[in-house]
Amino acid sequence: MRSLQPLEAPVDPVDALRRVGFLLERTRQHSRRVEAFRGAVDVVRGLAEGELATHVEGGTLTDLPGIGPSTAGVIAQAAAGELPDYLAAKQEEHGGPLVTGGETLTEAIIGDCHLHSDWSDGGGPIEEMVLTAVELGHEWMVLTDHSPRLRIANGLSAARLARQIDLLRRIDHSLGESITVLAGIEVDILDDGSLDQSEEMLDRLDLVTASVHSKLRMPREPMTRRMLTAVANPHVNVLGHCTGRLVTGSRGTRPQSEFDARAVFEACAEHDVAVEINSRPERCDPPDDLVELALEAGCLFAIDSDAHAPGQLEMKAYGAERAERLGVPQERIVTTWEVDRLRAWARGS
Ligand SMILES: [Zn+2]
Ligand SMILES: [Zn+2]
Repeated sequence: MRSLQPLEAPVDPVDALRRVGFLLERTRQHSRRVEAFRGAVDVVRGLAEGELATHVEGGTLTDLPGIGPSTAGVIAQAAAGELPDYLAAKQEEHGGPLVTGGETLTEAIIGDCHLHSDWSDGGGPIEEMVLTAVELGHEWMVLTDHSPRLRIANGLSAARLARQIDLLRRIDHSLGESITVLAGIEVDILDDGSLDQSEEMLDRLDLVTASVHSKLRMPREPMTRRMLTAVANPHVNVLGHCTGRLVTGSRGTRPQSEFDARAVFEACAEHDVAVEINSRPERCDPPDDLVELALEAGCLFAIDSDAHAPGQLEMKAYGAERAERLGVPQERIVTTWEVDRLRAWARGS
């Protein structure tokens, strides 16, 4: 994975708007601002030929629904062949490296086993997630929207998931060699350790990331049983954010779930399930001591973004910094593997 080089003039108005959105997302800035810029991209793309030029020349960009003074300024300056001031300021402010350390591993990461689109609780359409992944140098990505029981996150029913799989196959086919888009799910681990999607649908997916999102304060013994049952399920490939903790951010903090981590990681190693290193700064999950325990248990790892917006795909740099600092060998990180190897592993062959 690479960082994006700063844009220079001349720049296409859509590229300028997309880049502002990306820069705000990667550093988790004001979501309303992000929505304004991402929304403006859709508005501009939806215009008939010549319509944008007419509005630029007439100074009537803000007459367009969804275009305000900031987005109009960016469009007008880009259309005039200049680097928009707003974009230049954001590149200056938010364009630097996200983190120091882990650069070698960051570069080696070519895939992602955990990311969301606006089909569940993500903020970006699938196409924009894919386009950004290509720009960041990903060779493959697995879309893993939520499962039905997570209603608050607009989890996908079996019927919606079936439609999404068809769409992903079409998108993947249309992209040729530039990236491989795989169909996956972030499936809820239910209280008894079973999974929140039918066998038939799980069978159709390329990869399954399984996570606990409910009853995180369950006592240690049933929580251990719950996780062991999930890890032993042959459909599961990645154990997502295993402790459920939140260490910072707008949702507040939350302590880690109690479970026998050694037993769970040993089961992961036995069943060839990768332990996710969730890169989101507010999760930073599992904590360092548990990464070390999983390393000792012989586990594979997946450094994932858990991106809910295109710019957040780059957050894997945080996970890479942690993995490199904790001495996780690259060979054991599935998100550095070539897509064929990843697929064969996920199929269990
Ligand atoms: Zn999750
Ligand atoms: Zn997620």
